[in-house]
Amino acid sequence: MPEGDTVWNTARALHRALAGGRLTATDFRVPQLAAADLTGWTVLESASRGKHLLLRLRAPDVAIRPASGAGRDPEGERRLTLHSHLRMDGAWRAYSPGERWAARPAHLIRAVLRTADAVAVGYHLHDLALIPSEEEKGLVGHLGPDLLGADWDPAEAVRRLAAHPDTAIAEALLDQRNLAGIGNLYKCEVLFLRGVDPWTPVRDVPDLPAMVALAHKLLVANRGRWTQSTTGSLRRTETTYVYGRRAQPCRRCGTAIRKLEQDVRVTYWCPACQS
Ligand SMILES: [Zn+2]
Repeated sequence: MPEGDTVWNTARALHRALAGGRLTATDFRVPQLAAADLTGWTVLESASRGKHLLLRLRAPDVAIRPASGAGRDPEGERRLTLHSHLRMDGAWRAYSPGERWAARPAHLIRAVLRTADAVAVGYHLHDLALIPSEEEKGLVGHLGPDLLGADWDPAEAVRRLAAHPDTAIAEALLDQRNLAGIGNLYKCEVLFLRGVDPWTPVRDVPDLPAMVALAHKLLVANRGRWTQSTTGSLRRTETTYVYGRRAQPCRRCGTAIRKLEQDVRVTYWCPACQS
């Protein structure tokens, strides 16, 4: 499931494939962008904000108008941002031109962006939108400090968490308005490593700053690789302490790991280590 580090990795992969390139063709397979055509636009950069992906584009240079002499059309400076969100199941993949698109079935394709050097294919993307870049704040301005952002601010994240003392900590860690980037996996693993029961109200959590610092450390450790591990092991069956391990023995005490599902919120925990 995409969490902040996966989204960060995706943004970087798109940046490497597309940045600096001019789009030679685009194809959007969602109703709201059915008429959009970004051919000729230049990809400036690809960035992530929490779990949101932002692909920033500059309008094609407009030819110098003979009547007015030198200078560009002001429209030539126009910038747009292609926003997408991976939620539970979305993905972007970068291919070489001519390479087979093998990642997912074709009917899941929502966007195709081509440059001379690469093809980026977006599968099952959510909230796909094209907005003026200056309006990005409207989409991501509500987010708390980004765990993988250049402007990561742990004190502000702690302040925002503490502002809702009655909320269960598991809920609070997922709330992207508090801090941005944590999904179910990191939520469960951080709570296990801190020995905290997921339903503890925020006000009763010992040492919130240490919990926030640990979340940051885990996401940073996994930035740049696609296998998410909180244990230090990259072996498929050893990457987590509790996440995805229902009924298996706790790695510390042997108690069976428990799992509770509420909508899309899944919690795994050790009832002995986290009480
Ligand atoms: Zn245990």
